[in-house]
Amino acid sequence: MSRVLVVGGGLRAAAAVSAHLAQGHTVTVVAEELVATLEDLADRGLVSWHARALVLDDVLESDVVVRLPDGQGTPAAEPTGVPRPQPGEVVLVGAGPGDPDLMTVGGQRALAQADVVVTDRLVPLAALDAVRADALVIDVAKVPGGRSTPQETINDLLVEHALAGRRVVRLKGGDPFVFGRGGEEALACAAAGVPVRVLPGVTSSVSAPALAGIPVTHRGTTQGFTVVSGHVPPGHPDCTVDWKALASTGTTLVVLMGVRTLPAIAEALVQGGLDPRTPAAVVADAGLPSQRRVDGTVATIADVVAESGIGAPAVTVVGHVVDVLS
Ligand code: SAH
Repeated sequence: MSRVLVVGGGLRAAAAVSAHLAQGHTVTVVAEELVATLEDLADRGLVSWHARALVLDDVLESDVVVRLPDGQGTPAAEPTGVPRPQPGEVVLVGAGPGDPDLMTVGGQRALAQADVVVTDRLVPLAALDAVRADALVIDVAKVPGGRSTPQETINDLLVEHALAGRRVVRLKGGDPFVFGRGGEEALACAAAGVPVRVLPGVTSSVSAPALAGIPVTHRGTTQGFTVVSGHVPPGHPDCTVDWKALASTGTTLVVLMGVRTLPAIAEALVQGGLDPRTPAAVVADAGLPSQRRVDGTVATIADVVAESGIGAPAVTVVGHVVDVLS
């Protein structure tokens, strides 16, 4: 394990930081300002951050010093390379759950060809290493409780750059169409006459359980899995999920965006008739060095999570598949 000092607070620095964290190194970032993605890593204690007034000791004690530009890179004044038809295009790329190895080959190729990359928080930042040095990288991270970019602004950005003839990659965590708002972006592009392509990604709803040793289906145990959003709790006026029905599907249940609402969800499932002894697990930070899994039953899992201190992003799995490989 090495001590790595990254100089720069932009997205390219974020890419380098993620790559070094993934290799188990300790990372210190030196920059006046951090892009939201890096700020989030610093807030979560995964990197330490110092302003530029750095003591020489920190440099001398580091095994590796990496220097990267602040900010978001410079857009090519004119798109480079072979002439392209007007307008350009938008490629919605699913980047997988966090490990750059789980990006598709097509997604990496699209990134390498992009003039503009519009990226999210839950993407494998190390994958941004593939982006051309003259490409513009825009961070539209939606940090919970922190900086966020309205969806409308993101749609406008995609359309504006594509209409200027650029190849735009919209890099999204997991799969673009699984709670990713990719459909809204595709509609906005279509309305503006911008061609859109979709490169599906490895969704966390399947890969987070898999990376933690839980198959979402298993012969003889379950014949299916149901993926739902736990963003709004059962009983909330905006909730359209029939939790009572889910309690009796006999399929594995996978809940995304449901850490905060887990107590209410678990209760609704038990109230709906699910055996309280049904195994349940929560997998957080899947595909990242900080990946964690905790186990319980549907009756205990909310307390187990609260005691363990693990938080979003996390996927909850309910069903007998949880134990099948243990
Ligand atoms: N489009 C994404 C999901 C976006 S919704 C996909 O297909 O994976 C965001 C939710 O995805 C998070 O709240 C969490 O439930 C889940 N998630 C995303 N990345 C994750 C990861 N690395 N580990 C665990 N859960 C993750």
